[in-house]
Amino acid sequence: MAEGKKSLNFIEQIIEEDLQKDYKKENLKFRFPPEPNGYLHIGHASSICLNFGLGEKYNAPVNLRFDDTNPIKEEQEYVDAIKRDVEWLGFKWEKECYASDYFQQLYDWAVEMIKNGDAYVDSQTSEEIAEQKGTPTQPGTESPYRNRSVEENLDLFEKMKNGETPEKGHVLRAKIDMSAPNMLMRDPVMYRCLHKSHHRTGNDWKIYPMYDWAHGESDFIEQVSHSFCTLEFLPHRELYNWFISKVSKPGDFEPKQREFARRNLSHTIVSKRKLLQLVEKGIVDSWDDPRMPTISGLRRRGYTPGAIRKFADSIGVGKRENLIDVSHLEFCAREDLNKVAPRVMGVLDPVKLVITNYPEGEEEWLEAENNPEDESAGSRKIPFSRELYIEREDFKESANRKFFRLTLNKEVRLKNAYIIKGEDVVKDEDGNITEIHCTYDPKSKSGSGTEESLRKVKGTLHWVSVKHAIEAEIRLYDRLFTEEAPDAVKDKDYINFINPESLKTVTGYLEPGLKDAKPGDKVQFQRIGYFCVDRDSTHEKPVFNRTVTLRDSWAKIKS
Ligand code: ATP
Ligand code: MG
Repeated sequence: MAEGKKSLNFIEQIIEEDLQKDYKKENLKFRFPPEPNGYLHIGHASSICLNFGLGEKYNAPVNLRFDDTNPIKEEQEYVDAIKRDVEWLGFKWEKECYASDYFQQLYDWAVEMIKNGDAYVDSQTSEEIAEQKGTPTQPGTESPYRNRSVEENLDLFEKMKNGETPEKGHVLRAKIDMSAPNMLMRDPVMYRCLHKSHHRTGNDWKIYPMYDWAHGESDFIEQVSHSFCTLEFLPHRELYNWFISKVSKPGDFEPKQREFARRNLSHTIVSKRKLLQLVEKGIVDSWDDPRMPTISGLRRRGYTPGAIRKFADSIGVGKRENLIDVSHLEFCAREDLNKVAPRVMGVLDPVKLVITNYPEGEEEWLEAENNPEDESAGSRKIPFSRELYIEREDFKESANRKFFRLTLNKEVRLKNAYIIKGEDVVKDEDGNITEIHCTYDPKSKSGSGTEESLRKVKGTLHWVSVKHAIEAEIRLYDRLFTEEAPDAVKDKDYINFINPESLKTVTGYLEPGLKDAKPGDKVQFQRIGYFCVDRDSTHEKPVFNRTVTLRDSWAKIKS
């Protein structure tokens, strides 16, 4: 076997086998077919990476096809958002296609099918039709309208198309077999009447094709070679083939549908319909709320396209559904951000530290490396002065030997600065610490090369100079749900499992260089986590979102 074939996934194996048989490389063509009824989520990212990844691997075209057959739920806003997200992930489509562009062709084919006795207008209610479906073990019942004449069918179908029949009056059904073992083959509905305006075709159509009728035919029109969809469509495959066989001619290239397992992510939900509910109920602010598992939410949260692609590629495609722990997605974010995010200092829960032997009114600008993982990132200057903020949890008046942060009579290093020693505390009437007093060793400056600077101390703290710090709103995001699989808990709605602490907002004090940060900029607040500048941010009031903490804090809670 040739190099690189060892790790083929089952989808690639299908393609390789087809290439060995009668497919040519030029036949290969894929598509990503979202319905524009919401924003794309992390599950879609798997499908995008699969289809566009195959395109890259086989140097084959990939179409972006909007499956826009339901005007009730679809909107231009969603089309725009989907295009933005696919582009942002770094993929290029060959053609931007719409099922709605094929409405006329689909209609003409349906007319042909009526003429050939393969379709008929049923004038029963949807309830009556459902009752006649039968069960997997019992055949269905034929509709009393099944044997209408071709003329009557053509006449009624045209009236449906022109909006001359009531919405619920008639449907067009394929005439297949009411006792077929596959219930989807029991005369499936091809068209319903809907007197709704469509975001692209306006009021041109009063009938709209159903998914099964539109999807395979769209693949056929575009000459897609492999139509990959999620496993719930496996039983639809027979119908997919049947519909294509009704419109293709001998020798035509026919697409094939193959299925892979849906990807689910823990502590969230991946369903556009349910995500829309979160937006509509005001549980989140918008589709791109940084707690949403949407691609736009992840982007606003500070995820990089690289992190999402790495995530999708590392979980790969499978034949069985499973739940991927969100910590794996977070891991991918850390890996990517570690390489690209400049290190900065920010204090999120400040307590004042006064260096009593540092001259009042004096300040100095210290050299600080921007990213130890990337030499080319260079360095910057940060201001140091007599009064600093440090993190409240980095000080304890009395602590055991394992506490490697600041305590009285012990030394720690201030990152990029000096070694200090805790001396005293000032408290308010209630006993809360308002100031910590310490002394510093002037010879211990980081990087100065002196004997004192090389002295080993346990613990290094981050800090900012009180006088120079800028204030920023810090949005501390956490998982949106407390439950692993919130929409799979028996008898309970996922709304019950919203994490009340999914967003905490605090005021942070940051080194002054960050006042020029732009929306989308990513940084690591040293010792805390990765953050990114939110789109709400202004020069006067910077806003940072926490993308992910430096370590997996949930793992600690579990163990
Ligand atoms: P939703 O229920 O969220 O609307 P959907 O499957 O109806 O999902 P579509 O817009 O029809 O959404 O999906 C476009 C493509 O993305 C389809 O091929 C679909 O199978 C795939 N897809 C959707 N969700 C997932 C998922 N969780 N994992 C993998 N692929 C997915
Ligand atoms: Mg759908």
